[in-house]
Amino acid sequence: MTEVIDGNAVAAEIREDLSDAISTLEQAGTVPGLATVLMSDDPASETYVSMKQRDCEEVGINGIHVELDNDAPADELYETIADLNADDEVHGILVQSPLVEQVNEREAFRAVAPEKDVDCFHPENVGRMVAGPSHARFKPCTPHGILKLLDHYDVETEGAEAVVVGRSNIVGKPMANLLAQNDATGNATVTVCHSRTEDLEAHTKNADIVVAAVGVPEFIDGTMLKEGATVIDVGINRVDAETEKGYKLVGDVEFASAREVADTITPVPGGVGPMTRAMLLWNTVKAASEQTGVDVDL
Ligand code: NDP
Repeated sequence: MTEVIDGNAVAAEIREDLSDAISTLEQAGTVPGLATVLMSDDPASETYVSMKQRDCEEVGINGIHVELDNDAPADELYETIADLNADDEVHGILVQSPLVEQVNEREAFRAVAPEKDVDCFHPENVGRMVAGPSHARFKPCTPHGILKLLDHYDVETEGAEAVVVGRSNIVGKPMANLLAQNDATGNATVTVCHSRTEDLEAHTKNADIVVAAVGVPEFIDGTMLKEGATVIDVGINRVDAETEKGYKLVGDVEFASAREVADTITPVPGGVGPMTRAMLLWNTVKAASEQTGVDVDL
């Protein structure tokens, strides 16, 4: 029978473990702090940021929220980031993307002090992650959460054929890199597919593990999958539906047909999403531990 991964349950376990680490830090006089910075006209961003702040409150992380006027000059954002970089009570900084158009997103991510870059977007941290486990500081939250899910559900990555559909900087690229690394959660043989891939199905059909991060509703269906595959659906897409809100959320995978073929599959919602949120808290606690020199069990 197909196992449907429960991302909410695994994320709750991670938050539970984090509570112990946070207590250890508190006993040593440190409350981990996460600053969220919002300068966006995307309505979803406000929701995402408030969810992240609520998550902080629940586990005992000090959430600091800074909201900038959308018309403010880019320099105001850089000054805010510089202040947060210098603030000892802030251990992690998250600049919510997408930013308003007058800000160069890459520059904004580069402005965050690497040791506080809990999203793992700073080129220094990306480089360290690519260089391998003994160099890495952070792992980006979504791929990190996916590795935790695979581990939790005993999905063997070593020697597996893994296909990552999507090559974004925040999901596809780091996911492919982490799965290929020579460590306990890697050692897969990884193929990265994207919009120029000639015959996508030929790749997905051969995969033991498919990670879909495309941003196209129900793009991958059961006919494109190998019997017994593990299917990780990163997509969060709003589609019109006769619900109270007038829409529903679907993934990049057509769940009904995919679950007929897959051995293990994530639902949307309730799969990867809660893990992304949990791993942000995880990275914040790790950052606090490293900045204060207080050892915690993570
Ligand atoms: P991007 O739009 O940045 O990247 C999408 C990728 O999909 C690109 O690499 C693109 O290829 C590829 N792609 C697009 N169309 C096709 C196609 N027809 N065939 C093959 N590949 C294609 O998206 P993100 O990676 O940021 O996000 C992907 C999805 O995951 C979105 O739905 C997003 O909302 C969701 N998401 C969910 C998170 C969670 O926590 N669950 C976290 C982050 C994102 P190319 O590079 O050639 O353009």
